[in-house]
Amino acid sequence: AIRPFIVGNWKMHGTRAMLSEARAIDRAAQRLMQVEIALAPPYTLIHPVRREAEQIGVGAQDCHPADGGAHTGDISAAMVADAGAGFVILGHSERRQGHGEKDSLICEKGTAALAAGLKLILCCGEPMEKRESGKAVDFVLRQLKASLPATIEEAGERLTIAYEPIWAIGSGRAASIDEIVEMHTAIRAFLVKTFGEEEGAAVRILYGGSVNAENAAEIIAGDEVGGALVGGASLSAESFMNIVLAVQ
Ligand code: 13P
Repeated sequence: AIRPFIVGNWKMHGTRAMLSEARAIDRAAQRLMQVEIALAPPYTLIHPVRREAEQIGVGAQDCHPADGGAHTGDISAAMVADAGAGFVILGHSERRQGHGEKDSLICEKGTAALAAGLKLILCCGEPMEKRESGKAVDFVLRQLKASLPATIEEAGERLTIAYEPIWAIGSGRAASIDEIVEMHTAIRAFLVKTFGEEEGAAVRILYGGSVNAENAAEIIAGDEVGGALVGGASLSAESFMNIVLAVQ
């Protein structure tokens, strides 16, 4: 199996007091090379976390689609790259719900991020009513089709998909392994159709939503599961590294 990719999304958590957690995660990661580990801290901590990081990847949680200009309060892809980010998470359901982000905007952001040399972690995931009505796979594939940048060179290298069912995020109720494998298999087929056999097979598909040290090993062992995008359990080095230890 390929190296699992475990990414911590700190969301709107973290001041400089949390740099010690990032440092502890990085130091532990140096002894756990079988797992690829990354953190996405808030913008304000990208550069300080980057300075702590010898082993782990560092990314941003969002960026603006424009190169620059009169956009008070926004941050461009080039700015997060300059701060030390190597990737950006785009299309998280908290951006879609809290900021009204549509697939078309996420697509523009992705195009800008790739142009700035960033890798993408593109999120998708259905609300509970789509799952209950049996439309989850259709919904997610339509979301992906509409939010993927038009062209991605070396998609296997530059693109990661994160499947995060909205009802599983922060709920303590992860999707079942059958639900995860069904969705990841459908996403894989879509990626192969879009990028061709070789590149489509190389894109990693992460699962996110209430991942913890107890359920991580079973989830990661699922077909087409390349790793996990972890929220709450990534906020302390101890709980995050317990996930890494469980999957290594
Ligand atoms: P939790 O792990 O807190 O459920 O969050 C998942 C998530 O949204 C990661 O991006």
